[in-house]
Amino acid sequence: MEYTGISAASGYALGPAFLLQDRQIQVLKSEVTKENLDSEILRFEEALRKAAQDLEEIKERARQTIGSEEAEIFTAHILVLQDPEYSGAIKDMIRSEARNVEWAVQAVTDQFLELFASMDNDYIRERAADLRDVSSRLLRHLLGISTQSLSEITEKVILVAYDLTPSDTAQLDRDKVVGIVTNIGGRTSHSAIMARSMEIPAVVGVQDIMEKIKSGEFVIVDGSEGKIIVNPTEDLIQLYKEKQLSYEAQREELKKLVQLPSMTPDGIQVELIANIGNPKDGLAAVENGAEGIGLYRTEFLYMGREALPSEEEQFEAYKSVTEMFGREHPVVIRSLDIGGDKELPYLDMPKEMNPFLGYRAIRLCLDRTDIFRTQLRAILRASAYGNIKLMYPMIATLEELRKANKVLETVKQELLAEAIPFNKGMEVGIMVEIPAVAVMADRFAREVDFFSIGTNDLIQYTMAADRMNETVSYLYQPFNLAVLRLIRSVIESAHKEGKRVAMCGEMAGDLTALPILLGLGLDEFSMSASSVLLARALVRQLTMKKARSIAEAVLEMDNPLEIENFVKQEMQC
Ligand code: PEP
Ligand code: MG
Repeated sequence: MEYTGISAASGYALGPAFLLQDRQIQVLKSEVTKENLDSEILRFEEALRKAAQDLEEIKERARQTIGSEEAEIFTAHILVLQDPEYSGAIKDMIRSEARNVEWAVQAVTDQFLELFASMDNDYIRERAADLRDVSSRLLRHLLGISTQSLSEITEKVILVAYDLTPSDTAQLDRDKVVGIVTNIGGRTSHSAIMARSMEIPAVVGVQDIMEKIKSGEFVIVDGSEGKIIVNPTEDLIQLYKEKQLSYEAQREELKKLVQLPSMTPDGIQVELIANIGNPKDGLAAVENGAEGIGLYRTEFLYMGREALPSEEEQFEAYKSVTEMFGREHPVVIRSLDIGGDKELPYLDMPKEMNPFLGYRAIRLCLDRTDIFRTQLRAILRASAYGNIKLMYPMIATLEELRKANKVLETVKQELLAEAIPFNKGMEVGIMVEIPAVAVMADRFAREVDFFSIGTNDLIQYTMAADRMNETVSYLYQPFNLAVLRLIRSVIESAHKEGKRVAMCGEMAGDLTALPILLGLGLDEFSMSASSVLLARALVRQLTMKKARSIAEAVLEMDNPLEIENFVKQEMQC
């Protein structure tokens, strides 16, 4: 059976499906009669036994496939299960309050977690993560919910999930998860962006896929065409194995461009830089010949953990990326952009109706200046080691920009007073991702050192089409004339003030958009590391003259599909 979705990361993958079940567990509170208390305790003991059995099996599988040291995590989980303080407290609660076991497990776990949260200690924080895992395993046994979770993947699989959070994706092991399929999501959801940077073929937005595939069934993921095939014939398997080989050969061929300049045949140097989420991605950017970093999404440093990263930890991360690129190449570090689809459970952020329009990014930082200041200190300190530039996300008004700069100024004064070195001339720019800023770009251009156009958000806000929602993905149109006109006007406004304009939204790495953007005068293109060499190959055969004529022509058209087809046709001849 073949199903179509949205191509999120190109390439091909073949393997058994691993279905990640919805991990939202609903626990209801109910009263237990005196006569039933014993059987409630028995249910608990049975769940403890099954959970321990699961964990022993997973541990053994992990020991064989990933190694003894890594398998020890599951020993820690087993120890939590065997801890008499934990299980004793649950049994006490069932008896003393005559409550159902599920509710007691949840309530006792919450009490322990609260206690752990009050202790400032890395070891305890790790135990909190173990406790969360163990309690949800117990609850899934009690409620009869399938128990598969990401930590159980020990062999090469195609991960099939309703949705993947960015922090789930950040924890994926690229050697185990060879392909990704999700029910919801768009091409610019952060999980899709990360799949691209990890070079894991992915198809998102495949409706009802959780009902259409069973765990263990053989699946082909065609990330290039945005389709998947379940239980394919032998012939199809053979065909896709061949496609996979030729795709890999093509990527090998591209590696020859790593050391070559990104220069058009008529001598225009184009800056191709990379988007990263952590220092490891920085290495991939270097290997793929990126000429710097145009977007360091620092929020990933804050995810998948129990508490905020310290100034020191952040400083080390920023410094290490800067040192990979030397003093001549830029590293644009974006201040924390949490919110939207990127959550931090430990920050206790309010649940919102429209998270993408809510309390996120610079809005949160200007409110929680304690968090903002720590990050700014770390970025400024790292700026002494290379060409770091600071960028604020989600700026909507000039007041926000000025407020952020004021905080930056006070942090600089603090470092000066402490005689801590930093680059006093560090450039400061903003992301242009809210239409209000694009429209007011002439005013903003006077107060920033550079712009970086964030088309992932700019398109969703311009078209009022959620970037995460596959049902309105037809409206999420990078080639809509409204979007192209906004981009043109941002570039013109910046150039009038002598400022450079980058783009770090996914559109910058789209080979069909690139000729238009180059023709419109975009200065820097920041994209997934895996797209850099493809973009370089294109730039090396596209004259600036042709790019300008393409841009001019498409601005006369008004149909996104017509624009896209026109560029494709022009690039073929
Ligand atoms: C953007 O909005 O284009 C962008 C690069 O930021 P993010 O994808 O992290 O929202
Ligand atoms: Mg954005």
